[in-house]
Amino acid sequence: MSRPFIPSSNIARLKESATLAVAAKARALKAAGVPVIDLGAGEPDFDTPAFIRQAAAAAVEAGATRYTATEGIPALREAIAADANRLLPAGADPFTAAQVVVSNGSKQSLFNACMACFGPGDEVLVPTPSWTSYYEMLELARATAVPVMGDPANSLKVTAAILEESCTPRTRGVMLNSPCNPTGAVYTKQELEDILALADKHAWWVISDEIYLRIAYDTPATSVSQLAPARDRLILINGVAKAYAMTGWRIGWAIAPLAVSKAMIAVQSHTTSNPAAVSQHAALAALTNLSAADAAISDMVHAFHRRRDAVLNALGDAKKYALHPAGAFYLYIDVSSFGGDDPGAKFSGALLDEHQVAVVPGSAFLTPQWIRASYACADEIAVEGMQRIARLLSAGR
Ligand code: GLU
Repeated sequence: MSRPFIPSSNIARLKESATLAVAAKARALKAAGVPVIDLGAGEPDFDTPAFIRQAAAAAVEAGATRYTATEGIPALREAIAADANRLLPAGADPFTAAQVVVSNGSKQSLFNACMACFGPGDEVLVPTPSWTSYYEMLELARATAVPVMGDPANSLKVTAAILEESCTPRTRGVMLNSPCNPTGAVYTKQELEDILALADKHAWWVISDEIYLRIAYDTPATSVSQLAPARDRLILINGVAKAYAMTGWRIGWAIAPLAVSKAMIAVQSHTTSNPAAVSQHAALAALTNLSAADAAISDMVHAFHRRRDAVLNALGDAKKYALHPAGAFYLYIDVSSFGGDDPGAKFSGALLDEHQVAVVPGSAFLTPQWIRASYACADEIAVEGMQRIARLLSAGR
């Protein structure tokens, strides 16, 4: 007897990742011969630096082909702790390797953290717009994501005061992300300190996604770890994907209080086990060859900076609709002039159909009046894409 598939209550409300869906659509169109300009997924176009690729090849030849400990190889956990410790203020207790859990990308680290810390009845504040997957991961953990709208006059950032307005007795945590995907906004030290103080006052979990930390233009971005926060409810998330151009290697990590790390390891031990052994060796090379890594990152950030300026310039008069990104590699553009319930979807549909440019509609980040355009692609492609966006914006609907 055949029965239709009815999704379980675990995933009944789950939406597929919009960022990955746009990337897949752009890839399919390209494969079909449509010359699409893909400003969709946030993926650096650079090759992984040669010294990292070579270390990975050598590791495979040396036998890095088997299971490792679920939480990652000891040398990589040490290197991650050392990397985080370089940012700590003088006198702060160092993070230890035992606190580090290596996962298949920072996406899995975030998921593990949400599963470990939150459950039914828990509310978690999500500064909005935020990366699409935070909302869905919290739902998968059966917690409630509470979107907290950022201030349009302050690059759509939230403040401690704005967060506090959404706080209830059930609030258990807050998701932070600076530099921010999708806006490119970078929180100041003071803004972060105020939010950390509020979190401490209410004993919230702070999950700080710092995957874009090294990609900042006007001033260096601040890690919450630099601000001597209360560490007993802090989970730092980072990875090699963005800064080291290592998206496909799938290596991210969490640094958490020991009990939380153990819980995350347990979750991971039943879902994916260890991240790929060869990728862990690649990440180890990235984090331990400091001068080669710094040189590679500095070149890439320099290119992103140049593209940031070029794409803003390419928008011409339409620049007034875009937020000025101080980090990451996204331009967030207000397309509310397109009207309707979901101007971002309307705009991105028309942009793809009429101008062959793929972008992510702002509804993915719970702000349907915006679109996100990634400029992590060659300068001339980013500029051409942005000129087409400007044309559609000025033509209007
Ligand atoms: N984080 C990137 C983005 O927002 C990559 C795709 C994803 O995992 O969402 O485009």
